[in-house]
Amino acid sequence: MFSNKDEFKEFFLKRLESMCGKGFEQSTKRDQYHTLGNMVREYISSKWIETKELYRADNKKQVYYLSIEFLLGRLLGQNLLNLQIKDVVEEGLKDLHISLSEIEECESDPALGNGGLGRLAACFLDSLATLNLPGHGYCIRYKHGLFDQKIVDGYQVELPEQWLRHGNVWEVRKPEEAVEISFWGRIETNYTNNILTFKHVDAEKVLAVPYDMPVVGYQVDTVNTLRLWNAELAAFGPDQDILSYKRETEAITDFLYPDDTHDHGKILRLKQQYFLVSSSIQSIIASYKKERSNLRELHHYVAIHINDTHPAMAIPELMRILIDVEGFSWEEAWEVTSHTVSYTNHTILSEALEKWPVHLFKPLLPRIYMIIEEINERFCAELWERYPGEWERIEHMAIIAHGLVKMAHLSIVGSSSINGVAKIHSNILKNREMKSFYEFYPWKFNNKTNGISHRRWLLKANPQLTALITNSIGNEWVKQPEKLIELRNHVDDPLLIEQFANVKRKRKEILAKKIAEKNGIKVDVDSIFDVQVKRLHAYKRQLLNVLHIMYLYNRLKEDPNYFIQPRTFIFGAKASPTYYYAKKVIKLIHSLAEKVNNDPRVSQVIKVVFMENYRVSLAEDIFPAADVSEQISTASKEASGTGNMKFMMNGALTVGTLDGANIEMMEEIGADYIFTFGLTADEVLKYEENGRYRSMEYYHHDQRIRQVVDQLTNGFFNEDEGEFESIADSLLVQNDQYFVLRDFASYIDVQEKVGIAYQDRVTWLKKALVNISHSGLFSSDRTIQQYAEEIWNITPVLQSNQK
Ligand SMILES: *Cc1c(COP(=O)(O)O)cnc(C)c1O
Repeated sequence: MFSNKDEFKEFFLKRLESMCGKGFEQSTKRDQYHTLGNMVREYISSKWIETKELYRADNKKQVYYLSIEFLLGRLLGQNLLNLQIKDVVEEGLKDLHISLSEIEECESDPALGNGGLGRLAACFLDSLATLNLPGHGYCIRYKHGLFDQKIVDGYQVELPEQWLRHGNVWEVRKPEEAVEISFWGRIETNYTNNILTFKHVDAEKVLAVPYDMPVVGYQVDTVNTLRLWNAELAAFGPDQDILSYKRETEAITDFLYPDDTHDHGKILRLKQQYFLVSSSIQSIIASYKKERSNLRELHHYVAIHINDTHPAMAIPELMRILIDVEGFSWEEAWEVTSHTVSYTNHTILSEALEKWPVHLFKPLLPRIYMIIEEINERFCAELWERYPGEWERIEHMAIIAHGLVKMAHLSIVGSSSINGVAKIHSNILKNREMKSFYEFYPWKFNNKTNGISHRRWLLKANPQLTALITNSIGNEWVKQPEKLIELRNHVDDPLLIEQFANVKRKRKEILAKKIAEKNGIKVDVDSIFDVQVKRLHAYKRQLLNVLHIMYLYNRLKEDPNYFIQPRTFIFGAKASPTYYYAKKVIKLIHSLAEKVNNDPRVSQVIKVVFMENYRVSLAEDIFPAADVSEQISTASKEASGTGNMKFMMNGALTVGTLDGANIEMMEEIGADYIFTFGLTADEVLKYEENGRYRSMEYYHHDQRIRQVVDQLTNGFFNEDEGEFESIADSLLVQNDQYFVLRDFASYIDVQEKVGIAYQDRVTWLKKALVNISHSGLFSSDRTIQQYAEEIWNITPVLQSNQK
């Protein structure tokens, strides 16, 4: 298509004219983005077709990764990088006086996800394709992704996200592969010739139309598929009100639910889940049947993975198709289904475990409900045999109980594998939260510690650091991230240290410029960039960070000679629109920023910055600029975290609790290279059991705590009285569920150590380099290799040039 920059330029200019109907001079940046995006998609298309052919010919097992979220981030830059044509394109554009990065800014950031869970799915797609593994994603084509966050007077305001407004150059609509989904109606049961059959009648039908997006592997010819389903009108009955039918149908794929932990209990959410699952399973079966006739062997050729419980209805849906459509017996269908599906658990917060009221579930999905009932009855019978008379245990493990359908229980019973996302999380699942299931099915439980795509979070986000690493140890680490460890042999090299200092400084300057533009705050690039970016949640304890900054402010006011190493505290976080507490914390951060940044003396040493609308593209500017990574969740509450890994890979030092993957990071680098503090998970869980924690005692006995907690309500902030009362109440009246005050003193101590450590620049930089050198373990390539070998049983496809 184009192999050098002159060919590229010629092609680009021609295409710009034909696509936009304008000459180059008249074209806008968006015209240029559109033209380039289309060229790149075309460039991909032959590889895409070849990959599909290869999968057909190779007859290999494929994995389908079902996830209600894929937090992709912009694709142009990543695709150019993975296709190895970024340099040609960049130079060609430069000749035309166009900057590639400006064009990239025209792409809207597809935010089909809330946070960690959706971003994990996106990193997994990148690793699957790069490792030549036959694996595809299935999700919903939400018309509006996660809301755009605006801050008005310090409060979060949500605006609808509009990623499709200017079209999506990467997608290909496939109307011929549309399938029908049935909701509501009744089930007619028929018993003739000893055969029981089920017919879903009077159903409301919705059409699911797929839009396929290519997933390009790095430096390989593999192009996998991310299939996004769009809800559209199907046939409707004569009595139906067409307008309300249209409204209800389109509502299914209108919005991503902006809540990453709590379950809304909304019927629309349930509809979305079944819509995703039914369309995906139908399409998987259809493509299987094109190549093979014997569905009894499905699990030898197909693995279906459910990312958390949102797609758990994959289990009864596959049962439904095998029994009602394909004529399988229950036992035959169960054998295939339970060997096809595997499940990842992402949380132990009990309020986040999905449970659906039967009275909502049953009328909306009558046949699926019948099947879940049958699964439950057979499962309880098995339990009865194993644990005769143990009613309580059986009641506790049942899939349906007390008018609720428990999606985690369904997922465990119907899957061949259940994994947690970090060692500590998997252990808590086995030994506490899912103990009774672990005792019943010990072989099903395993751990797969999360990872991140180093191609996005290092190669794409931080080209300066990428060049430095390659300069030092060659480029093999790009394909084999574990080879980053070779950097460890160079961390004492003064030249490398100096060059790394320059890279970090450069990235801090880039971020400082953005902060100046967006927030109008001038920050000192010699100060410590201390960063906490992630969803706003009580268990993630942004409040602990805030209280520490308030404490520093108080110290500086009391003692003008009190020395601290200058710091810039940077926050980024969206709060779920209905999460009152989280929104209050956002307001608190802004009130604190106003107080700190406007104090003539305090602002010389500390600044507080809240960066609006935290999302993947902003994250790519933030991680490379960080010196300190805040990973301060209440121990046992953060299943893994992946932000922690992005910081480590970009040479920030972690301040963290012994929670999630922080623990494995510490095991990997050694305790001297990470700043840990606070209660351990065991200590937290013990407190929760014995109820002996009294936050009031810490309030009374620590003057520093009393002062900052009082300041929430005593008029210290220039806000209405009562503005932050609910936050103060959470700490005292509600006894501080997340142990903020319990960990406060320990957090102050460790932060003081951080300030002192930063003063020894060389040692600090070496420690950062050590962190980078060990970060290969946390590449999603490692994670995906483990899923492929230990759960899915899939192997790479060899490209023709590798055979
Ligand atoms: C990585 C990432 C997350 C997850 O961050 P955690 O610190 O692990 O919670 C959330 N949002 C975005 C945009 C990310 O890139």
